[in-house]
Order: sequence, then structure tokens, then C-alpha cells
Amino acid sequence: MGPKKRAGLAEIGVTAVLDLLLHYPRRYLDRTNQRSIAELVVGEEAMVLATVRRSQLIRTRSRRQMVQVDVGDESGRLRCTFFNQPWRARQLREGTTAVFFGKVDSFRGQRQMTNPVVDLVGDRTGRIVPVYPQSEKAGLTTWEIGTWVEEALERAGELADPVPDAVLDRFGLLDRTAAFRGVHLPGSEAEWRAARTRLAFDELLRIQVALVRRKREIERTALGVAHDTGGELLRRFRAALPFPLTGAQERAIGQILSDLASPVPMHRLLQGDVGAGKTVVAVAALLVAVEGGHQGALMAPTEVLAEQHHLGISALLEGFTVPDAGSLLGDRPLRVELLTNRTTGTERQRITAAVASGEADIVVGTHALIQEAIAFRSLGVAVIDEQHRFGVEQRAALRAKSAGEAVPDVLVMTATPIPRTAAMTVYGDLDVSVLDELPPGRTPIRTRWARGPLDEEAAWQRVREEVAAGRQAYVVCPLIEESDKLQVRSAEETHAELAAGELAGLRLGLLHGRVPPRDREQVMTAFRAGELDVLVATTVIEVGVDVPNATVMVILDADRFGIAQLHQLRGRVGRGGEQSWCFLFGAGDTPEGEARLRAVEATTDGFALAETDLDLRGEGTILGRRQKGRSDLKLASLKRDREWIERAREVAFELVDADPDLAGHPLLADEVDLFLGPGEDEEDEARAEWLFKS
Ligand code: ADP
Ligand code: MG
Repeated sequence: MGPKKRAGLAEIGVTAVLDLLLHYPRRYLDRTNQRSIAELVVGEEAMVLATVRRSQLIRTRSRRQMVQVDVGDESGRLRCTFFNQPWRARQLREGTTAVFFGKVDSFRGQRQMTNPVVDLVGDRTGRIVPVYPQSEKAGLTTWEIGTWVEEALERAGELADPVPDAVLDRFGLLDRTAAFRGVHLPGSEAEWRAARTRLAFDELLRIQVALVRRKREIERTALGVAHDTGGELLRRFRAALPFPLTGAQERAIGQILSDLASPVPMHRLLQGDVGAGKTVVAVAALLVAVEGGHQGALMAPTEVLAEQHHLGISALLEGFTVPDAGSLLGDRPLRVELLTNRTTGTERQRITAAVASGEADIVVGTHALIQEAIAFRSLGVAVIDEQHRFGVEQRAALRAKSAGEAVPDVLVMTATPIPRTAAMTVYGDLDVSVLDELPPGRTPIRTRWARGPLDEEAAWQRVREEVAAGRQAYVVCPLIEESDKLQVRSAEETHAELAAGELAGLRLGLLHGRVPPRDREQVMTAFRAGELDVLVATTVIEVGVDVPNATVMVILDADRFGIAQLHQLRGRVGRGGEQSWCFLFGAGDTPEGEARLRAVEATTDGFALAETDLDLRGEGTILGRRQKGRSDLKLASLKRDREWIERAREVAFELVDADPDLAGHPLLADEVDLFLGPGEDEEDEARAEWLFKS
């Protein structure tokens, strides 16, 4: 092809034959599905087989060339209009029979098609014709691409197939050659469907093979601590808890303990909806480390949350002791320390020294934990709360904090529910435990979308009533993404308006990103102690904050928030035994905004919401924003192909466990490298990197 066409192809990312073959049709025109002209419906796409009755070339006033072709079959007549295709006049002479495919519209009361796709009978009739994406923008017609692809397939002949026959047979999958022919040159709908399934499976399998290999490699090469999990501390901890553990918590702790007992470093994700009780599970893991004379670290994304964890964990472990040969009694109190950027001066020196000497048994903190000056004597277990808030490097940095040889066991926790199969793709090199059960006695939160002033008034009324009954509320300010400064101003204004209006007379606190640390702590402490009735805040309270006496959450301009964020915010209430409410203010002016508010109003089930989010936002929710590059899913969908993700994972484990280096599957190993290994494309590389380390 000439340089112009080549540039056009480059524009749509096609620079090699492989790219061309991977440039899959967006859809198919199914010409086997013909209609008669009388059956055509305005507004719908359809195809008719008809004969040209009259054809004329017209020059419009704007000097455009237009060809008007009147065609007919035994049922009626139809006008087809072509712009800027003067050659149609020659192609479509009177008496010519052709297939016309296009959207039926109505012009001056007459049904017609504008620029329909035309195929002369005998040319491509009876076949399914692929339509390729983005072809117009790059100055390429879908027919040109189709022709090149056909030629490429012709010349390539038989394609190597990296997937073992046994696997193909098990799932009834086509071979590679048939799949590429079927996706580009299908003879029927069934053919392209089968072809897409096979090629989608390949995309998923490549990702799973890469993830599973990485997982197994870590397990093989990294040396962890084989903890003793039968110790006294854990037993005491259970006994001291003011409540029995839920079945889900028991299961998760069981899985974690067996990871900890093994010399292979734990690399586990604990997924549990807001309020499911992840902290207790984390503390159990930390105690196992302490029991064996190691240390535990818990890293949280915000200072508010780190402080709260420190308070909570210190309370849970009140009176606990650890063996200490140097003391007269043979033991000393278990020490839980807090380290954030707010910890300064001599206090910081004291804690840093205790972390280094091993006297600090459990250290709770923020990013401050991973600063250079901090070194643990022997970090046994590292827990990362709300892990999605951390960058890849930050998580890796915590893991590297131990002075000892052994790699610490790592537990990452998240309340962002991801559909299970999507988690297999995004967190494929992690083991997953799920808390799918809330502690008993929780009354489900009632959520109302306040659709107008009357509803809003009712919401404020509810806030006042709850406060009168001794309970507390949050008001979350409108989200202003443009600037932090505007966000702060909006929070201050909201606070002032409420104090003078709807919530006059109540004790209001204000919390946003620019409140100085000392004041922030005071506000949180006062709110926890019940000295404030209502906390007006930005999303600084989004994650983790746990004040069981708070029973109302009001979210202003809620349609600006994403589903996951709304769900997190709502999770700040409903933490005690009392009935809790969540009010979503917002007009829902966009269809998506409305759909989000409706979804959050309809259910408190985080996993159901995650599914809805996936439906509303598409794959981008999970796979990030980047949407091009070889490592992307082109055909496979985290949504549609759930069972195929599981199958691909199953196959990946079989292949890798039987043959860790894939020595017997060199084609597959090469292909995984080609698609997911370091590539020429920087974005691609970043994308693959992200996929693995998340
Ligand atoms: P999250 O999973 O959102 O981090 P938390 O660990 O903050 O949840 O727990 C939420 C609340 O539930 C806390 O007040 C905690 O003390 C309480 N909780 C945790 N486990 C149980 C349980 N098994 N029974 C009753 N309450 C529990
Ligand atoms: Mg939490």
C-alpha cells in the first residue's frame, strides 16, 4: 500500500501484520438477514436486495455531487442517496441488482437510505461483512481494511497455536487459524461468535499466565517467616473481644493463619464491605507476628484513619503483655505506637528508636512509616488498609522495611468491592479472602435520594431529631475537583450556612484538608467523644472513620460522586445498633448521575453496587483509563466473560504448576512476553506494570 494508507493505519495503531490481525471488526453486517422494502422501518438499520430502476448524478447547490438511485423489489420502492461518490452512477446502472444496507430515514415523507453500503450481487452476498472501527477518521474504508486483513490471512496461512489442544478440546474452542478467519471472514453469526470467544479466551489466558507465574515465582524464591500461630496472644485476643467473630471473619483469620504458618510470604487481599470488620482480622495477623518476637505494622492512607486505628487497637490490646527477658517479671506491656507526619521532635525520635530496637510491637501509621529513617528490627506482618489509596511503590516500600532477611507477610485490605472475577484479573497474583457477612445486629441503613426542597427539609429534620436523641451526623460537602482551595471554601460556606440555618443551635464541627493537624485532631476527638453533634466535612472522612454513635449521613451534590465513593461515605453510619439514614442531595441532571443515585438508594450491598458500577462505567472502572496497547482486553470483557476469566485462571494454574518455566510451551511464553512483557510502548509497559503490582 502507499504511504498515505500506511500513515492512516499507523494512526489507528496498526504498524505490523499482527496489529492488523488484532484489529478486530467492531460489528458485522449480516446480509443473510434480508428484508423486503415494504418491511423497512424508519430509524432502523436494514438490508434489502433490490434492482436499480433509475439512477442520476446531481450537482447540489453547494456544488456537492450527489447520486440518487431509486431501487425496488417486488414489495415497493426505496430511494438511496449517495454524497461525494459520483462513481455510484456508473456502478448502479438501471437493471443492476445489489444489496443495500443502511439506516432507513425519511425525507419529505419518503423512506430512503443515505450512503448505504452496497454490494453487487455475486460479490459478497450471503456473507457476513465485518465493519472495522475508526476507519473513516484515518481515511481508510472498512472495505480496504477488510481486504488487507484477508490478504494477510491468506499469506500467513496456518497460524501457530500456543494453547494446548487438550485445553481447546475441553472448552470446545476453535484453533487459532480458524479463530482469526472466523473473526475477520465469518460465514455466519455462529462463526464470528465462536471466533471471538476463542480470541477473548487468549487475551484472558495471557494475563492469567503472567499473573500466576509471578505469584508462583514469589512463592518459590522469597523467604518469609514461618510464624507460630498457636500462641497465647491470639487466644487472649479472642477472649478479650467484646463480640464473637462472624463466620466470615473466622474464615479469613483461618486462611491468614495458614499463610502465616508457612515459610512462603503471605500476599493476601482481604476484601470486605464497609463495616464488615476488617480491622479485627488485621489485628489477629499483627498479633501472630508479635507472638513470635517480630513486629507488626499497619499503614492507613489518612491521618484521621491512622489515629483512629491507633486508638482502637490500643483499646483492644489493653493489658496485653509480651515476654521480655530483660524485665524482672519476665514480661512487659505490649506496645502499640502511632507514627504520622504529625509525630515530630523528641516524640518521633523516641518512636523511631523503639521501632528500630523492636520495643514497639505494633506500629500504626500513615506514609510516615515508609520514610527512610524508619527501620524495623524485624517486621513480621505488614497490613495495608484501604490499599487502593496507596501507590504501588508505597506498598512495596513497606514490605522492604524489615532489617532481617525474611520478607514480611503482607495483608492488603480494601472495602472497594470488585466483582470476584474482575478481582482475579486485577489482583491475580494475590490470594483473596472475602468478608461477605456483616456483624450481626446491624440495622440496614435507609437511603433516600432527596429529589427536591421538601425532601431536603425532611433530611435536616431527621438530623435534628437524631441529635435530639443523643446521636450524631455527618454532612459531606459538595465535591470540587478543580481546586483544593475552592473545596475548602465550599466546606466553610456549607458550615456557615448550616450553622445559621437548618442546623442552627447544634454543635457543628468542620473538617477539611486545610484544617491544621492539631485542630483536626481536636475536632475528631470531640466528635468521637460526642461533644460535637454534626461534623461538616469534605471527603477526608471517606474511608475508615468509625464512630458508631453517628446515625445520619447527608451528602450534598451527591451526583458528583462515584458509586464506590458514595458507598464508602454511607458506610460511616450504620455502625452501631441504631437505625441509620443516608440522604443523597442532588438533581441527578445527567443520566449517569441519576443512575448512580438510584443505584445507591436501591441497595447497600457493596458487591451489587460494584456490578452496577461496572455496568455504568464499563471496564474502565477496573482496568484504568488507558484503553490502547497490546496488553488491553480488546474482545474479552470483565463483565460478559466472567466464566471465561475463571477458566483462563484454572488453565493458567495447570500450565504453570506443571511447568513453571513454560519450557514445554515456548510459544505461549513468547506470546505472554510479547503482549505483557516490556514493550516498545511506554504506556503499554506502564499498563502491564500496573496490572501486576496493584
Ligand atoms: P471495616 O471492615 O469497614 O474496616 P471495622 O473493622 O472498622 O470495619 O469494623 C466496623 C465496626 O464493627 C467496628 O466498630 C468494630 O468494632 C465492629 N465489629 C467488628 N467485628 C465485629 C463482630 N464480629 N461483631 C460485632 N461488631 C464487630
Ligand atoms: Mg476499615
